[in-house]
Amino acid sequence: MSACILVINCGSSSIKYALIGTGAEQRIAGLAENLGTAQARIKGTQADGSTFNYQFNDNNDAQAKPASHADALQYILNQLSNHQPAAIGHRVVHGGEKFTQAVQIDPQVMASIRQTSALAPLHNPANLLGIEATLALFPSLPQVAVFDTAFHQSMPPQAYRYAIPENLYTDYGVRRYGFHGTSHAYVSERASILAGMPDQGGWLTAHLGNGCSTCAIWNGQSMDTSMGLTPLEGVVMGTRSGDVDPGLHRFLADNLGWSLLKIDEVLNRNSGLLGLSGLSNDMRTLVDAAKQGNEKAQLAVDVFCYRLAKSLAAMSCALPVLHGLIFTGGIGENAADIRAKTIGLLPHFGCTLDDEKNQRMYAGAEGRIDAGQGPQIWVIPTDEEGRIAAETRQVLGLVE
Ligand code: ADP
Repeated sequence: MSACILVINCGSSSIKYALIGTGAEQRIAGLAENLGTAQARIKGTQADGSTFNYQFNDNNDAQAKPASHADALQYILNQLSNHQPAAIGHRVVHGGEKFTQAVQIDPQVMASIRQTSALAPLHNPANLLGIEATLALFPSLPQVAVFDTAFHQSMPPQAYRYAIPENLYTDYGVRRYGFHGTSHAYVSERASILAGMPDQGGWLTAHLGNGCSTCAIWNGQSMDTSMGLTPLEGVVMGTRSGDVDPGLHRFLADNLGWSLLKIDEVLNRNSGLLGLSGLSNDMRTLVDAAKQGNEKAQLAVDVFCYRLAKSLAAMSCALPVLHGLIFTGGIGENAADIRAKTIGLLPHFGCTLDDEKNQRMYAGAEGRIDAGQGPQIWVIPTDEEGRIAAETRQVLGLVE
């Protein structure tokens, strides 16, 4: 592999990585999990397609120091020793208003990411951990930060402002930022190319993974998106509630004595598909259970699709013309029934689904699933890592 980019997505206890070349060659990718605990492990693929699964503390030594992010990165580096990357691209969740595109990392950029941590206390500090560890390991390699929020910085004020006192925005940055930007950007660009109108047209995207969001894109620019100040706003997700009445917080505090911390925890971790079904946050499990007659699983599926359709209908207000809808993420790419149910709730869009094409679209397949009338409907497997690598090359002027 030549001119590879190492893409790092660093969470609080995990690191996803991928070494991405310029051609269609096999990616070297992997995942380190449970970092900072005795169960730290790392698994992935090699250049030849073989896999590895390494447990840092495989003899269960209770005294052993748990593997850190730096230990995992060192292990990754050793795995990649035959493939020196040309640069490193980091996923950074929150870039605030400062970052409207990817940037090369320097001490000032790091300070800005640190300052923005108040807006993403769970994510930005973890992203910084990854940046610091890779800077220590690869001091001479250029490194680029690619922000989840940057794509949505093109939203107009009517889409990004909350109707709350102005100083909360001007003094504290309380506004809608949006997330999943690399995914919405990638799939809308890809669909517009496949549709023969590169970077043109009006698209509605539904990124449906564990986190879910919708986005309205006009001529390649994000005009509105369902996530807001934090990734809790918007549609129903695996364990996140999406939109609730802001008065719910007061109700829970007054009647159940819950603290803000507890409310935040419940809305982020015990709600969404899991909260509604009491069974699982995993859509596959719920679709299967609903088919077996589980009423709560069926309700979770119904609420998920209804709220999703409602969000897409709302997003359409941001577009002068709707050319197409795009489904992506684990649910969007694989769950034909969820796509069909959602489209069925949007008859006024004039879309028609080709049931056979819809059923055939799963496991990485890409293509159109509409019957030819009304707006197009696409399934596009997302490629956030590929997009981060491409943006990293672009920032550094490296040739594709
Ligand atoms: P993440 O946001 O963590 O990257 P993914 O994009 O992998 O998550 O999406 C995970 C979701 O995709 C889970 O709810 C999973 O059940 C769902 N999913 C994956 N395959 C299918 C399928 N065949 N049918 C329904 N849901 C699926």
